[in-house]
Amino acid sequence: MSDIIQLLPDHVANQIAAGEVVQRPASVVKELMENAIDASATEIKLIIKDAGKTLVQVIDNGKGMSVTDARLSFERHATSKIRAAEDLFQLNTKGFRGEALASIAAIAHVELKTKQDEDDLGTTIIIEGSEVKSQEVVVTPTGTSVAVKHLFFNIPARRNFLKSDTVELRHISDEFHRVALAHPNIAFSFYHNGSDLFNVPQENYRQRVVHIFGTKTNEKLVPVEEETEVLKISGFVGKPNFSKKTKSEQFFFVNQRFIKSPYLNHAIKSAFEGLLKDGYHPSYFLNLTVDPKSIDINIHPTKTEIKFDDEHTLYAILRSAVKHSLGQFNIAPVLDFEHQSSLNTPYDYKNKNASIPAIEVDRSFNPFSEDVDRKEKTTRQNTGFKSSPSASWESMYVGLESKGNNSESDFSQVTFESESKDESIFNDSAIETRKTTFQLQHKYIVSTLKSGMLIIDQNRAHQRILYENFLKHITVKEATSQQLLFPLQLHFTPNETKIIADLKSDLEHTGFAFSELNDKEIMITGVPVGVPESEVSIILEQLISDVENDVPDTNFSAADLLAKSMAKSLAIKNGQSLNSTEQEHMVNSLFACKEPNVSPTNRPTFITMAVDDIEKKFM
Ligand code: ADP
Ligand code: MG
Repeated sequence: MSDIIQLLPDHVANQIAAGEVVQRPASVVKELMENAIDASATEIKLIIKDAGKTLVQVIDNGKGMSVTDARLSFERHATSKIRAAEDLFQLNTKGFRGEALASIAAIAHVELKTKQDEDDLGTTIIIEGSEVKSQEVVVTPTGTSVAVKHLFFNIPARRNFLKSDTVELRHISDEFHRVALAHPNIAFSFYHNGSDLFNVPQENYRQRVVHIFGTKTNEKLVPVEEETEVLKISGFVGKPNFSKKTKSEQFFFVNQRFIKSPYLNHAIKSAFEGLLKDGYHPSYFLNLTVDPKSIDINIHPTKTEIKFDDEHTLYAILRSAVKHSLGQFNIAPVLDFEHQSSLNTPYDYKNKNASIPAIEVDRSFNPFSEDVDRKEKTTRQNTGFKSSPSASWESMYVGLESKGNNSESDFSQVTFESESKDESIFNDSAIETRKTTFQLQHKYIVSTLKSGMLIIDQNRAHQRILYENFLKHITVKEATSQQLLFPLQLHFTPNETKIIADLKSDLEHTGFAFSELNDKEIMITGVPVGVPESEVSIILEQLISDVENDVPDTNFSAADLLAKSMAKSLAIKNGQSLNSTEQEHMVNSLFACKEPNVSPTNRPTFITMAVDDIEKKFM
């Protein structure tokens, strides 16, 4: 039998490859723009005619090509971007296959003009269906221009398969937006049939997003910034009330490459949990930077899919970072009492009343002190809690009930702003009788509601109160410190000392002061007001162990972790008896919190039992 296998001629192989690389004019736009970026251009111009069917041209001011390279660039697997297989695992460029120009030249008429800065003259090459028609010396500016005409001229089936100009132009715009968003430090312009569609200068990321999606976008952006060892995140999410019915404003860029990742998208969605109406999608414009070694983009020719080494960690970090930002920018305070939202994040204290004095840690809520009453008054004024003292938690419930909600499940339908001063809710006259509280097993505070019964876990409730207070101090960066008469010297292992040193500035914002902080010793000269000296080493030990045991999902932010840890250390323990004033103060402080229904570690702080439920038990 004779041999029957033959190598395909190059132009046929190129046409086959083109089937993968070039689906439509937008694919050409993507490849050419990416080449311009890889050539370190700072200005890129995109010129389109007839939705790319007649012309796609990209002009850049990048580094250009030599005469030889210009010719070679159209060969298949000709690339300047990788040399060996190892390079695939540390890609810093968009391209690496060396297939795009060869593929495009196989199915279109291409005219290349290019010049390197050091050369006086450039090169121009005309190539049609893989056939070089001419190569000449030309006068042209530094950089490269690639014009692609008559796409699919030799494959009528593909040409006929193209959609209407409107649809094809939309695909082109999408590609353009993705590339332009990923590179705010490059100026872009975009012309279609002679008219100017986009023209954006070099700018910062916020300006770029706003330029592309319109000025109205500006007010809806919430910054997201996080940096960990494995991942750096920067960019924006849209405020929940600006969410859209389409997914048109969802952008992930990994190392400046647009990617689609249903898994990471889910991380964002879950961070928005409870904040979005059904059927609405959050907007996001997020840049993730990871070690190129930890990703594999080689799995799909159009390269919008990506494989991460450690997706789970990325998921957790991303979710936390977004939650954190949503919390910080005060998107969280729309509280739904039933919903166990888990926005265990810092809050926005930027909008606080500037005159609020540096507050003590609300440790003035000291169940052991005799004069709680007096202190309570001052604390009430000082803590800057948003709800007014008369807006007691009881009236919230009574108010709800007067609207006809008398079972616990009905709370789920009622959303209220924590800052609301709505008369119908905070109307004292709505309180029928003075409610009393009592303590059960030195562990729970029980109170009656008009609609039933409220049972509060005293330890968790106090953790919530302290946590929000600490967070406020850390965020606002103005806490008062209580100077120690004699500096307190503590000894930790070098590892432990490192943890404290890393948290030093956050600790100082809660009121700690250090005179010495090195491998050998820690000298503390000040502690947060209200923190007993005897508890300092316990607090720091707890903090160290919390940091050491920290899992990315529950936490990543030092400030948040510190606040949680200190709240845990200092909260009233179960078994502690509280007098009625203390109980009442606890209840009121809890419901003055931004997120009263869960502890800092996301456990319920209270439960309610409706009269209906009680009645059922008697049946
Ligand atoms: P890849 O981008 O995968 O390397 P391409 O076929 O897109 O493959 O490009 C082939 C080569 O041509 C590139 O590696 C690069 O050296 C050169 N090249 C392409 N476009 C440009 C440009 N705009 N400026 C400078 N060099 C370019
Ligand atoms: Mg390329």
